[in-house]
Amino acid sequence: MPEHCSTKVDGQECQLAPSYVVSVKSNEGDDEYMLAVVCEEHKNGIEARLLAMQKENRVPQGKIHFQPVKAVVTDCVMGMNEDYIDLELKRGIASDRKLVD
Ligand SMILES: [Zn+2]
Repeated sequence: MPEHCSTKVDGQECQLAPSYVVSVKSNEGDDEYMLAVVCEEHKNGIEARLLAMQKENRVPQGKIHFQPVKAVVTDCVMGMNEDYIDLELKRGIASDRKLVD
């Protein structure tokens, strides 16, 4: 996961830690494409930008979805048991696929 927010302010990358993973859920099925990560401050801004980009067909069509990064981190902590490596591998494959899409 990127270490800071995906937005740029006046051409400079925002250096704040991301608070949300931004994805778009397709209208047809349960495909979900991870697009970016964003800090609390730029959540509304990136949503507006993505909606505009959807109109120009520059990002997949669908519902913009924000998942708190803390929820993702909690998943990792809960994976810290005997199945840890197995879960870690599955998660890695799943996230790779989403990033390639
Ligand atoms: Zn930001």
